[in-house]
Amino acid sequence: MAIWEPLIGGINSLFISLLNSNKYTRKILTTLGEPYLAGHTLHEGLEAIRHSYQRRQRYSTFDILGEEAKTATEAQMYIHIYKQAIRRLYEQFKDQYETADHPHQRPASVSVKPSSICVVTERNPVLQVDESTSLSSQLEKIVTSAYNNNMDVTLDMEDHCWTTASLDAAQQLWRKGAENLGIVLQSRLYRTEQDIQHYLLDSTYPFHKGELRVRICIGAYNEPKEIAIRNKLKMKARLVQQVETLLRAGIYVEIATHDPMVLNYIQHKIIYGNGIPPQRYEFQFLRGVRWGEIMGKQFRELGCVVRDYMPVELTPGEGLNYMIRRLKANPGLVWNGVKNVGMKVRKR
Ligand SMILES: Cc1cc2nc3c(=O)[nH]c(=O)nc-3n(C[C@H](O)[C@H](O)[C@H](O)COP(=O)(O)OP(=O)(O)OC[C@H]3O[C@@H](n4cnc5c(N)ncnc54)[C@H](O)[C@@H]3O)c2cc1C
Repeated sequence: MAIWEPLIGGINSLFISLLNSNKYTRKILTTLGEPYLAGHTLHEGLEAIRHSYQRRQRYSTFDILGEEAKTATEAQMYIHIYKQAIRRLYEQFKDQYETADHPHQRPASVSVKPSSICVVTERNPVLQVDESTSLSSQLEKIVTSAYNNNMDVTLDMEDHCWTTASLDAAQQLWRKGAENLGIVLQSRLYRTEQDIQHYLLDSTYPFHKGELRVRICIGAYNEPKEIAIRNKLKMKARLVQQVETLLRAGIYVEIATHDPMVLNYIQHKIIYGNGIPPQRYEFQFLRGVRWGEIMGKQFRELGCVVRDYMPVELTPGEGLNYMIRRLKANPGLVWNGVKNVGMKVRKR
């Protein structure tokens, strides 16, 4: 470890604690986080999703903000709200769900954070989860409800402590036929190439390979250098390679980056270069990120599916907690938030 790393880590933690320490700086963080939110109630979130589909033909993946459930009751509450949201999304887009001939290109899916539906009892050295809330059994409840409503579920990926647990849970459910479940891979982790091989390429499941669905991103968490690349350009180069591997293997790929250069490269060299039709992939962006708006519009005009990540803050303050947790994991996001507001102001 470089000698300055603990120092930089200490400065970052101090900076984030300062931001969280009084009501004015908390207000600033809340303001920076606001563009990323789809709403503060389920109703507002669903309206934002409807609006985005009807006015801009953009698809959505719905997410309830909240991580690290403290009790089994809290975890159960998240599952209950997800089931409610699934039912209401289905009613909202009934015609599209009933008539869509593509299993994955439907107007809305849901994204779930593993730690929101499981209670963690031990994190170090190995992640342990309260038995009554095992990830596969909790996830299965949401996946089954979504399956009955023709809907997809994506298991978001949290930090590296969750990687094996998340991929194992997905594999268990795939073996039971849960073709509507998708996973997320993070190109910054060294293990990702082996994970692609082990969980996707070498395995057989009781459905066609084209049903397997993977969101690929660089990863939002600053992981230790022993297990992850620290250089962003290298993470992105790997992302491009992994997109190609997955597409060539016939897997449905959700390309989740806002970087216009990376997107243009993937579009021209990988997608056009390999003659991949638009039914085999989609582009995903975080709601409110300016580059996502710009690039998404361009891809929509080309007839590609564009899906936005639509988080809803159902518990007041959860948006702020989310920002703080994200910043602790990756302090560079403050700068992203400021740039994002700056791009909006310049556009006016
Ligand atoms: C739909 C979606 C789902 C995701 N799911 C996961 C997940 O499950 N697990 C996980 O670890 N990570 C997830 N991520 C986050 C992802 O891993 C990256 O952290 C994030 O997308 C930033 O990386 P980038 O590839 O866009 O490149 P960057 O170089 O970080 O960004 C490219 C450009 O977009 C801007 N930008 C990027 N992110 C933001 C932001 N938040 N606010 C404002 N501007 C921004 C940057 O300023 C820059 O101009 C997801 C991302 C998306 C789009």
